[in-house]
This record gives sequence, C-alpha cells and structure tokens, in this order.
Amino acid sequence: MKSKYCGYAGRVMEIDLGSQSVCEYPWSDEQRELYLGGKIMAAKILCEHLTGQEAAFSEDNWLVIATGPLTGTGAPSSARFDISAISPLTGILASSNCGGSFGFHLKKAGYDALIIKGKCKGHKWLEINDDEFIFHDAGELWGTSTGECHQMLSELTGKKNFGRLCIGPAGENLVKYAAVISDERAAGRTGMGAVLGWKGLKAITVCGSKSLEVYDREKTAAYIKKWVAYLKNHPLTGSQLPNMGTAGLVSSMQAHSLLATRNYAAGQFEDFESVSGEALAEKYNVNNSGCLGCTIKCRRNVTVENKLVKGPELETLVLLGSNLLNRDIESVLELNYLADELGLDTISCANTIAWAMEANEKGLWKNGLEFGKCDNLPTIFEDIAHRRGIGDELAEGSKRLSEKYGGRDFAIHSKGLELAAYEPRRAVGQGLGYAVANRGGCHINGGYAVIAEGLGLNADPQTPKAKADLTMLLQDLMEAISASGQCIFTSYAFFPKALLAKPNGILTKSVNALLPHLGWAMRFINRFPRLFAVNLPIIHHTGIIKHALGMKMDLGRYIEIGERGYTMERLINTRFGISAENDRLPKRLTDVPQDPNDPTTKVPLETMKRTYYKARGWDDNGIPTEKTLKRLKIK
Ligand code: SF4
Repeated sequence: MKSKYCGYAGRVMEIDLGSQSVCEYPWSDEQRELYLGGKIMAAKILCEHLTGQEAAFSEDNWLVIATGPLTGTGAPSSARFDISAISPLTGILASSNCGGSFGFHLKKAGYDALIIKGKCKGHKWLEINDDEFIFHDAGELWGTSTGECHQMLSELTGKKNFGRLCIGPAGENLVKYAAVISDERAAGRTGMGAVLGWKGLKAITVCGSKSLEVYDREKTAAYIKKWVAYLKNHPLTGSQLPNMGTAGLVSSMQAHSLLATRNYAAGQFEDFESVSGEALAEKYNVNNSGCLGCTIKCRRNVTVENKLVKGPELETLVLLGSNLLNRDIESVLELNYLADELGLDTISCANTIAWAMEANEKGLWKNGLEFGKCDNLPTIFEDIAHRRGIGDELAEGSKRLSEKYGGRDFAIHSKGLELAAYEPRRAVGQGLGYAVANRGGCHINGGYAVIAEGLGLNADPQTPKAKADLTMLLQDLMEAISASGQCIFTSYAFFPKALLAKPNGILTKSVNALLPHLGWAMRFINRFPRLFAVNLPIIHHTGIIKHALGMKMDLGRYIEIGERGYTMERLINTRFGISAENDRLPKRLTDVPQDPNDPTTKVPLETMKRTYYKARGWDDNGIPTEKTLKRLKIK
C-alpha cells in the first residue's frame, strides 16, 4: 500500500517458494507510525502469523527481510536491513541485521520488505528486477562459497550495480548458526542462513529503477550535513571506529577485565596485545571502507591469500583470539575470511569451539580440541560447514552439546545463543542484557550497557543499581534505530565528547558517580516517554524522520516505538514458552566470582531481573501484562 510518508517504497511482498507465486501483503500508514520498519515491522508481521507451534525447519517458518524508512534517504549509515524468522539455534524469534547495499536496492525495486514462505522444490535462487520475480534453478550455485556465489551472481545477471545476498555451505548443510552474507557483510547471528538453506533458497538478487523521495529536500540535506559533521568530529564515530573498527576496544576491555578469555573463565589475557586492534592496525589493516552511504566506515580491510578482504571485528578477534588462548592474529584473519566464505557466524562458532575445548579438557567429550592449539581450526571450520566428523556435532551449538555431554555451567549462551565478547562479571548491566535479550545472548539486543560500565563511561560496573532501567532505555533506543534502517554505531555519538575527552576529569567522574543513583530518572523516562516530546541535539535520529519522512517524531515517540517492538518480540517468544526461567546465564557468570577475592565480581542476575520486569511492565514471570500490551497498542 502506497504511503503518504516519504522514505518508504510502499510495498511489502509475500513470496511463496513452493508455488513460486508473489502477492502484496497489506501494510498501512498506521502500521508505519506504530512500527516504523526493519526488525519491528518484521516482528509485527510475524506476531500476526506465529502461534508458538512453528519449527525453524518447517514451511510455516516465514522469513522476513525488512528495510527501514531511512534507507535511501541519504541519512548517515542507513543502509542496514533485517532478517527475521524462528531461529534453528534457539527455537524462538530471531532477528539478524546486515549492512552492505541489499536494502537500498530492495527499496529501489519498490519494496520495503519481503516475506518468504514455504520451501522450494529443489534448490533455487531468486532474481528480482523491479516488478519481475524470476526463480532460477540453483544447481550450479549450490555448493559454492559465498564469495564464489557473489561472483557467479554478477555473471548470471550481467549486472554490476545491484543487491545480492546468499548462503554458503554452512547454510546449505543446516548448521544451526549459519549466516547470510551480502557483499561481505554478514547477517551472522541466529542461523538465518540455515533457514534459507532448509527452504532451498541459495541466493536473492535485486535491482530496481524507482526513485526514492524525501519529504523536505532542503531541510533533510542541511540536517544530514550537520549530523555528518557531528559524527566525523566525535572521537568514537570520527576516529576510533574508522581507524581501528570495533577491534579498537580490545585494549580497553583488557584494562577493565572485560575480555572474554579461556571460555570466559577470565577477563584478561596476558598476550592480549598480540590480538589487539592496535596489532591489527599496525601490521595488517590496508584501508577502511563501509556499508553503502556510511559516514563512519568501520570496516577494516586486510589482505588474506593475496586478496583484500574484510578484517575481523572485535567479536571475532576476541572469541577466536583470547577466548581460545590463540596468540596468532594471522590465524584469526584467515579464520574470519573462511567463516565468511563458508557462511558461519564467528561468535557462535568460536564459542562452541571454546566450550568443546573445555569439555575435552574436563574429560566430558574427547574431541581432540585444546586451548591454545589452533592450527587445526581451518579444518574444523570446514568440517562444521559440511557437517563432517566432530564438525557435525559442533554445528549444533554449545547449548545442545552441553545438554548431551554435560558442562552446562560453562556453556556460554543465553536461550541457546552464544554470548558476545564482553565478559559480563565486570559489567553486570551487560550481564542482565545478555540474559533478557529477546534473541538470546546478544550484546546489542541486550542494550550494550557495557558502554557505560567501562568502555565509554566508567559507572560502577559491579553495582546492580540503575542497571535494569538503563538496560531498558538503551534496548528501546537501539530497537528504534535499527527499525529505521540505521546502524546502531551512530548511537556511539550519544556520548558527549566532553566526557570521553577527559575520562578522569571532574565532570566525567561526577557523571560516573551519579549514574547508579539515576535509576528513578530513567524509570520515569521509560514509563512516560511521551512526556519527552523533544528533539535532542545529540540524538539526531528523531529529527531526520521528521524532515526525510514527513512523519511526526520526537524522542518520546521514538523510545515508545522501541519499547513496542521489544515487548512485541517478547510476546512472540512467550508463545514459544519463554519466561523468566529462560532469562539465564551459565553458572560460571552468576555463581563464580571472576576475582576469587572479590565476591561482587559476578552477575547478580535475579536482583536485576526483578527490577527489569517491573520497569518493562512485565509480570514476575517475565510475561508482558495485558495492561502493558494495551498501553503499547500491541493488543
Ligand atoms: S558503521 Fe560500520 S557497520 Fe555501521 S553502517 Fe557503517 S560501515 Fe556498516
């Protein structure tokens, strides 16, 4: 349905793979106002469809590819798109975000989202050219690496300027954490590649000729100019991310004992310098680049096998480095490249291997894997992607393996999704975020409170005070940013430069000291967001929606949209049996202090969970109440 708002392409298409038919799915302006786009739009579509009975590998598992309204408007870092479905790794709602240019091209073809239903007869790939949807036999593509597949798609379509995404061997072989790759960018987490693999869909290409309009061209251009200058002048988005990517955080994590080491048994690695962002920048980085139209350009390019390829980001560097006691950064570079080629999520893959190393050491599962011995990992990666030997078992993820062999206390996941690289016993708000995150152990979906607990600010990382309310506020903001099609790295610039410039200055120290006492203030914003009908100069995300889309927007509405999305995702998950019982972390993180001499260095999860549920308007069992659902217009 065409929209009165600019920014939207106007149509959502439903694609039935079995019958190879395509029709339009109704989507109104009222829904655009309530759900914005991206992952929240996908959640609403799935909320209407899912009953809680659907298995990840079933024809009823709809996979939604959704863009945000800012994609194509020229807003900074706004070419992200989302893939949502039931995850084969967790069995609950998943969403995986990806950069590159696919979302932009999808909108140029006239579509805000694609709903992919059913299963192909045989193996197919789908070519979309404006209004034309062509199903091709994927015979020659099936079995190729993602790099080969991307190259072949260029040759098969005869196009240069177009969007493409595909799965690698891992997706084809239903590895539970298989990624979808688009222009070397990964929708890495939660196994969306395996969902496409089960459906028999190897790749999608899209090319369009429609124009994308903005509401007020002059105001939009002026606003973007100002915002870009702000991002470029900010120490995180203008310097750290472009110069070192997220890998630049390794040294800070070491300093704050946040660096996942030896399967999260420790927060520091004696040889961290060998796998740090600085080591990467000094010896291996060739240049930086970014997703389409990105101002920040956090991608670091390195040379592997004489090819210029994407370098490892923080998660990969840490989880294939310190967490495996791997000191060889070149091996991390190679494994990172191999994971992309095979279509594997490095976070879940590396965490599962870390668990297997410890299980081997403890005699629970004799598999030959050992901490610090990483020469065999390229073979292990290939074996996982092709489900050969122990790779077939490792392809199932750490939760299932620990249920089979024992060792649940050190299987580092939440709801089946392996944790990111931040060791949460020294950032307990991040620990809460991992546990309650809708998609499982994710730092971003968990709210990324660690940025206030050591990586940006340094508010007492051990206290549970104010962490629940902070987590909720950050989760909702990031939910809305993601739904608009923007990269969440733009939110790094929320931090006032003055605080970052002088971490030991009086002002910064005062903010750090005050933050744990501001839970009540954050609770007030969380509970009554509509009272904050303002646009703040450091949160540019709301102003751009007014100028580029012509939609009413302010901070309060924005936060409320985020809260609506977050709660709706939770509602879907409750249909799949999720409750407080599932918002858990392994005992290693909740019961064993990181520092044996300091009992506070563990995650006081249950205390924070109770406050968090209250803040969200969920009951003690973590279920959104009827009152909350009505308030958010979900019911
Ligand atoms: S900041 Fe990095 S991940 Fe985000 S849009 Fe830019 S290049 Fe892509």
